[in-house]
Order: sequence, then structure tokens, then C-alpha cells
Amino acid sequence: MSGFIELPSNGLELAKIKPTLHPKFSPNLFHFLRKQKAADLYQVYRDQNGVLWIGYPDNEFLIGAKLIHVLCHGAKSQTAAWACISKPIEIIPGFWDQYIENGRCAIDPAHSMYFKDDRWEILSKGRTRRCLWCNHVQYLKIRVKPVTFVDWVNVDKEGEG
Ligand SMILES: [Zn+2]
Repeated sequence: MSGFIELPSNGLELAKIKPTLHPKFSPNLFHFLRKQKAADLYQVYRDQNGVLWIGYPDNEFLIGAKLIHVLCHGAKSQTAAWACISKPIEIIPGFWDQYIENGRCAIDPAHSMYFKDDRWEILSKGRTRRCLWCNHVQYLKIRVKPVTFVDWVNVDKEGEG
């Protein structure tokens, strides 16, 4: 339990991220946090491999879980003391404020991840889409690459043998 008391509260009120308030909020993340005794200490961290973790540091360990695992499995996610995370881990400053504002887009600001819940509204003849969670807009970029076909051909078939 050392280091436990010195950690500041994350200031997060779970009532503000209820999935019934807005579809941008992950039901799985909400149900996971509701189950954690120390949920008020939970922050989001990025390790040296770019993997996101949710939990709190305790000496050499991070007590918590991989964020993607929590997003997929919710309350079924097991927390553990992780020592095998590539260090140093960095806290994502202001994560919960960003999450309250943009929901799961705070986890994926590049809008490159797939979520099973509806995230996009298709606009203007299918060439533009708007994020239903944070209003981010993307357009469809179509690139046509020239393709060269290469194949081995038998000499006798070409009449040269
Ligand atoms: Zn978004």
C-alpha cells in the first residue's frame, strides 16, 4: 500500500461519464471503473511502446489493466500489478477532462481506431463523415496507384524455344 495515500484523486465523477448520458462514453470503461475500489486514483498512462494503460502507479508497478482490454471486456477485465510495462510510463495529462468532452475520441484523437458502436455520420454523397462523439470531420481520399504486373512465362509457350 505504500505510495497509495500520496496519490492525488483524479477528480473524476463517474456520474459524468455514464454511457446513458451520451453514446461517446464507453459502457465497458464505465462498468470497469465502477467496480474498482480505487477508481478515484485511476489515470491513463502511455508506455514506451505506445500502449495505453489505466490504473495507478505503486512503486515499480502499475496497478490496473490495458485500456484496450477494458474497452473490450469492461467489468470482466482483471486488474493486476504490472511490472513488465516498458518504462518510463507517462501520464496523459488532463485525460479525464478530454474524455468528458470527447468521450472515446480522447483515446483515439487520430480517429483511426474501430469501435463497435456507431461513431460516424456520413455526409455529402458519402465522401465526408462527421464524428458523432466529437464532431471531427474526415473526407474520403481515393488514391489510385499504377500497378505493374510481372509474371514468369514459359519460353515454348511464347514460341521462342
Ligand atoms: Zn470523434
